[in-house]
Amino acid sequence: MTYHIRGTDYGSHSSSGVSSVFPREVSIREVCAALARKWKTPDLGNKDDPLDEIVYLVLAGRTREQAYRDGYTKLKARFPNWGMVLDAGPKELEELISGGGLEEIKAAKIWDLMAYLAETPQGIDLSHLKGKKRDFVLEYLLKLPGVGLKNALCVMIYSLNMDAFPADANVIRICKSMGWIPTQWGHKKSQRVLAELVPDEIGRILHVNMVVHGRLICRPANPQCSQCVIKGYCAYGRRSMVGD
Ligand code: SF4
Repeated sequence: MTYHIRGTDYGSHSSSGVSSVFPREVSIREVCAALARKWKTPDLGNKDDPLDEIVYLVLAGRTREQAYRDGYTKLKARFPNWGMVLDAGPKELEELISGGGLEEIKAAKIWDLMAYLAETPQGIDLSHLKGKKRDFVLEYLLKLPGVGLKNALCVMIYSLNMDAFPADANVIRICKSMGWIPTQWGHKKSQRVLAELVPDEIGRILHVNMVVHGRLICRPANPQCSQCVIKGYCAYGRRSMVGD
């Protein structure tokens, strides 16, 4: 089977669509180790509290890092208790996070989430998920308005000390370049398959270091393949080196 990456189509796949391009587990572990040596799994500002983390993730969507960090700081200063959001209303939220983009959508998402939680027996608080079983937690998080699989897995790794592999745009872009998944897949399908593909216990480390790698080296335009510590594993990197 032949396949191409970065904007071109894969060739034939198996009936499942992917089995013939999946990497071996040992390669995934080696990539994880190489990225961890390079980037040392830094703190990306994620939150210990699961509800704080969801708000942080909502703000981070398609927004520059400094803008969403600033937006979160402003929100937290104004609403030390998230229940206060409901008294303020979405318009004030929108003003507080202005400058990051998509303010109206993000403010509505945060307000809807707090309104939903206010009606639950536990109220506006997700700390009751700590120590619960993984399947229960995932199912619970996915029922929350505005929380998809990627953000649910992020909450699990960052705030609930659970193993998982969330795949944001950086992670998916790198995995496609590596040849781990087909380029034409959308984010939802990519996330679903990658969450199965990566061994749970290395998921957090691989996720964090891929996010950093995607921001600094494997950028959407003009990836710096010559400086990349995982180019030996990467289909796109190997081809670009041959072309040098
Ligand atoms: S070799 Fe290039 S395309 Fe592949 S992961 Fe590294 S920077 Fe990205």
